[in-house]
Amino acid sequence: MDQDLRPTGIEVSNSDGVLTIDWSDGHHSEYALFGLRKNCPCVVCRGGHGQMNTFDRGLFFVDPPQKFEVKNIQQIGNHAIKIFWNDGHNNGMYQWQTLRDMCPCKECYPEQE
Ligand SMILES: [Zn+2]
Ligand SMILES: [Zn+2]
Repeated sequence: MDQDLRPTGIEVSNSDGVLTIDWSDGHHSEYALFGLRKNCPCVVCRGGHGQMNTFDRGLFFVDPPQKFEVKNIQQIGNHAIKIFWNDGHNNGMYQWQTLRDMCPCKECYPEQE
């Protein structure tokens, strides 16, 4: 991955339940908040250090059984964001690389229905 790849814009719509990222290479990603919360990269949500990079992009396509909202987003250095969720959780550091790997668009994730 291009070392300079980074978001040029991050927007959240809690009413639509989606977080969108525009990337420096022109790519556009839309993440359903439910999937983003369930794919939180922190060790607790991953279920242990051995599974730190196992994410399920299928979670972006389920009918959310629970509504999550983003209260705040904090940039960590120049490689990640921390998301503050309405359920009080804020341990997850979403690195650019992780977010891009998780992108559920048809181009990045052709397996989607
Ligand atoms: Zn977490
Ligand atoms: Zn994509």
